[in-house]
Amino acid sequence: MTRSDPDPSISDPERPPACTDAPPGRGARPAHPRELLRLRSVRTAIDSIRRTDSRTLQEQVEIAEIPAPPFAEDARAAHVESGFRDAGLSRVERDGAGNVLGLLPGEDSLPPVLLSAHLDTVFPAGTDSSIRLIGNCFTGPSIMDDSRGLAALLAVARSVVLGGARPHHPLLFVGTVGEEGPGDLRGVKHLFGENGAARACHGFISLDGAGLGRIVVRGIGSIRLRFRLTGPGGHSWSDWGEPNPLHLLARGVDALTKLPLPATPRTTLTVARWGGGRSINSIPDEGWIEVDLRSEDGALLADLERRVRRHMQEATQPEGPGSLRLSVEEIGRRPAGATEAHAPLVVAALAASRVIGTEPLLSSSSTDANIPMSLGIPALTMGAGGEGGRAHTMDEWYRNTRGPEGVVRALLTCLAVAGVSPEP
Ligand SMILES: [Zn+2]
Repeated sequence: MTRSDPDPSISDPERPPACTDAPPGRGARPAHPRELLRLRSVRTAIDSIRRTDSRTLQEQVEIAEIPAPPFAEDARAAHVESGFRDAGLSRVERDGAGNVLGLLPGEDSLPPVLLSAHLDTVFPAGTDSSIRLIGNCFTGPSIMDDSRGLAALLAVARSVVLGGARPHHPLLFVGTVGEEGPGDLRGVKHLFGENGAARACHGFISLDGAGLGRIVVRGIGSIRLRFRLTGPGGHSWSDWGEPNPLHLLARGVDALTKLPLPATPRTTLTVARWGGGRSINSIPDEGWIEVDLRSEDGALLADLERRVRRHMQEATQPEGPGSLRLSVEEIGRRPAGATEAHAPLVVAALAASRVIGTEPLLSSSSTDANIPMSLGIPALTMGAGGEGGRAHTMDEWYRNTRGPEGVVRALLTCLAVAGVSPEP
């Protein structure tokens, strides 16, 4: 998860409870999490989550200590894969992108409900991934984002198999690759792509990081562009007058910072990095900038991209003799999207939160859920219990305050959306 904007203005849209024994049709009717508590299988699963909390925590530390740099998630994927097998999931496999999949079967004719967490971290190969326990606080890279989500994912898989609940919609457990910046959501893009396992999907729940306090139902879209300006360069004295890529890029940056941006839906433009030049006494033959554009609204984001490209084109034209070449490279593209607050998935997540005694806010962020949201598939992202902070730093920390409650909430949410067969 990369950023959040809690929005306290969204009200609770809870609907009356539906029954748990609805006959499966195109989509089985969701159950209410409170009704699920009447089922022995669900109570057994919840008991098991609470009893095995220390195992879940230990596994979280083990996962965090397995390096998973961008594009090199394999070792961590292998751990999750064997965890899925040990839990008793079926059809455990890796897909073409490297995502790890495991299934709890339901009605064959129904599309699955996905529960996922991401395998990758932001930390490059060679980073010291050891986790330290200071007091009751675990500290070290990726201990929260998203080792907590992965440990919770495995705990839900173990407990639901142990309890023996029979969901109408199959539950597909997934460890995804490529959630963080450079990965550009390549794992979920594959999952929901033409040959992906989730092309038909009843709902998508991503467990990302710690906490119980918010549920992400709006996916912030982003477009990341690198503008590169090249020319002949030259000696800073004898060739003075040749067009200078850095001077013209500075003019472009100035134009970008003057673009009006709407406050609602929130839309941002950040010139995040720039560089170029060869020496202090040379006219550069190259300069570049990287620009990060974000919006909660896909159409606004597309319009902003058009304006940014046009302004950069215009601002970087040399006024005098000589010419420069502008090229634009796309570094990343995450579509925006949203799940309606009254969608059964969101209703289920809010109700499950109340069952564990918490009242989360609905908020925005950029996560794996962006992709299904952009395709109109109900999707959300939530924390997996406990508390933590300093994500993406070497001081990332996690404390297991109400940790098991996050796992219970994930279990109840996916079973509520999947619907569960009645028990004798
Ligand atoms: Zn994350």
